[in-house]
Amino acid sequence: MANIHFHPDHALLSRFAHGELESASSIMISAHLEFCPYCRQKIAAIETEQAGLLEKSEPATLSPALNAMMQQIMDQELVDETVDEWPDTQLKLEDKSYPLPSALQRHNEKIGPWSRLPGNIKRAQVDVSGTSKMNFIYMDSDSALPEHTHQGQEITLVLAGEFYDENGTYKPGDFIIQTEAHKHLPRTREGKDCLCLTLLNAPLHFTSGLATLLNPFSQLFFR
Ligand SMILES: [Zn+2]
Repeated sequence: MANIHFHPDHALLSRFAHGELESASSIMISAHLEFCPYCRQKIAAIETEQAGLLEKSEPATLSPALNAMMQQIMDQELVDETVDEWPDTQLKLEDKSYPLPSALQRHNEKIGPWSRLPGNIKRAQVDVSGTSKMNFIYMDSDSALPEHTHQGQEITLVLAGEFYDENGTYKPGDFIIQTEAHKHLPRTREGKDCLCLTLLNAPLHFTSGLATLLNPFSQLFFR
């Protein structure tokens, strides 16, 4: 999609291609790839490079044990394919329904019910392994999250609609990483709502006015 402006950087794509990311981060990247032919191409290039390296190495370096393991993995995937249940492809929110990223279609039972947060925000948790917290965040039109910084890292992937902050407007497919260095105030415009998938590895920290009183609110996101 030509109008995606924010992408994972090369290092992150490379770690994804090499299978070095924890599953929650991999889900975020896979979901971005569904939107982004540009990054799919980059992944393909990294994989080609990897394959080239494998070809150059002597066949003897692939031990029989490794061969057997790879065979097993390939068999496994075939089995998975055949016993797969009909995946749930839609995420429902009241009268709306959104296509689920493929990476989450097999984990539908891990998506919790929607709950309401202050400021016309709704959230559904995704139960992922590891220490990070994944949430679907729905911002109704003309709503705002209190200004906050991040104690760790927050990845946001826009799935539908749009939101904006001091730094720009974010549309479907945009992949935004924020860290301690960023302070931002995500908002939606009138008549524009927004659905995002977010991954947090530490609680949000609210920085301004009344919002600092809401710091327990950050726990709502990190639970
Ligand atoms: Zn991309």
